Amino acid sequence: MIIAVDGYSACGKSTLAKDLAKELGIVYIDSGAMYRAITLYYLEQREKNPILTIEELPLDQIQIDFIPGHKPIILLNNKDVSDEIRQPSVSDLVSEVSAVSKIRTALVDFQRKIAEGKSIIMDGRDIGSVVFPNADVKLFITAAIDTRAKRRFLELQQRGIQQSLEQIKSNLLKRDQIDSTRSDSPLTQTADAFLIDNTLLNREQQKQVALNIIKSKTNN
Ligand code: C5P
Repeated sequence: MIIAVDGYSACGKSTLAKDLAKELGIVYIDSGAMYRAITLYYLEQREKNPILTIEELPLDQIQIDFIPGHKPIILLNNKDVSDEIRQPSVSDLVSEVSAVSKIRTALVDFQRKIAEGKSIIMDGRDIGSVVFPNADVKLFITAAIDTRAKRRFLELQQRGIQQSLEQIKSNLLKRDQIDSTRSDSPLTQTADAFLIDNTLLNREQQKQVALNIIKSKTNN
C-alpha cells in the first residue's frame, strides 16, 4: 500500500503520516528531509565558495540515506543531520533548492527506490502528483496560516531553536508561494486527493478522519 500525503508547510503532514504509519504498521518516509539535507550541503559548500550557485551543486558528491523508524534519521554523506536540517538557515533556502529540476529528478528516483516492495506513507509536496501518481490513497493537508505558524513555533522551541512567530509565518508563506508556483512539480491538490483542513482538529481527530478515508478507499 502506498499513501501519499501532500500539503502546505507546517500543516501537520509529518505528524499525521507518523501516526498513520504506526496505526497501519507501514513505513513513514519524510521526503522534505531529503530536500533539507541537500540544502544543508549547499550551505556548507557555499561557505567555502561564496559564488557557488544551486545549479552548480555536484550531486554526485552527495549521498543521502534515510533510516525509517519511530524517529527517522537522515544521513548526509554518512553524517546524521536530522537535527541540523531543521535550522532556520535551511528552512530559509530549501524552497529555492527544491525548485531546481536536476535535484528533484535525483530525489524522486531515490524516493521511489526506497519505497520499492514496501508498504509506505510518504509526505511532501509532489508525492501524489509526481512521485506516486498511482498511490492507493492521496491526502492533501491544509490549515490556517496562524495555526501553522503557532504549531511550528512550539515545535522549534522544543528543539531549542528560537525564532519569532512573525519570522516563522513569513518563512511558511514564502515557501508555500515558491513551492506552489515553481515550474517543476508545483505543490497542487490532485483531483483524486482527499482534502483535510486540520485547523480545528486535534491530533487524534485528524488521525481518525484520515483513517476513515483510507478505509473507504482500501476496504480495510
Ligand atoms: O516537508 P518540509 O517542510 O520539511 O519540506 C521542506 C521543503 O522541501 C518544502 O518547503 C519544499 O520546498 C521542499 N519539498 C519539495 N518536495 C517534496 C518535499 C519537500 O519540494 N516532496
